[in-house]
Amino acid sequence: PLDSEQLGRSTWAFLHTMAAYYPERPSGAQQRDMRRFLHLFSQFYPCEQCAHDLRERLRTNEPDTSNRHNFSQWLCLLHNEVNRKLGKTEFDCSRVDERWRDGWKD
Ligand code: FAD
Repeated sequence: PLDSEQLGRSTWAFLHTMAAYYPERPSGAQQRDMRRFLHLFSQFYPCEQCAHDLRERLRTNEPDTSNRHNFSQWLCLLHNEVNRKLGKTEFDCSRVDERWRDGWKD
């Protein structure tokens, strides 16, 4: 059966890792494609409530795909909105590279 908690953890790992390795200087086409990817993703993500919630957020909060840093931060803020909604602790977005790219320093 579909476990939306496990799916969520795996999906956030995928999304944050993809953002962590997004180009420093993306072309216009790459910026557009990543925005489209997120919109398409929100149409097929197999947790109906999560997907619906994400589509609503994307209506007023267009992904900032202008460069690696901005996209990673945008995604961190989005995840924090979901954390807040679910009553989870918020993540310190200044540590997003440590978590998803470079590894914790300690
Ligand atoms: P997760 O929230 O899955 O986080 C995994 C790890 O990411 C954490 O352990 C932490 O190390 C790191 N992390 C946490 N916050 C951040 C951040 N802001 N930036 C970077 N890294 C971070 N569940 C619902 O019940 N209802 C919903 O509407 C819903 N919507 C979702 C929408 C999307 C797009 C996704 C991918 C998942 C959604 N989920 C939803 C699932 C939910 O967000 C969690 O994935 C799930 O509850 C498991 O939570 P968790 O506590 O294991 O950590």
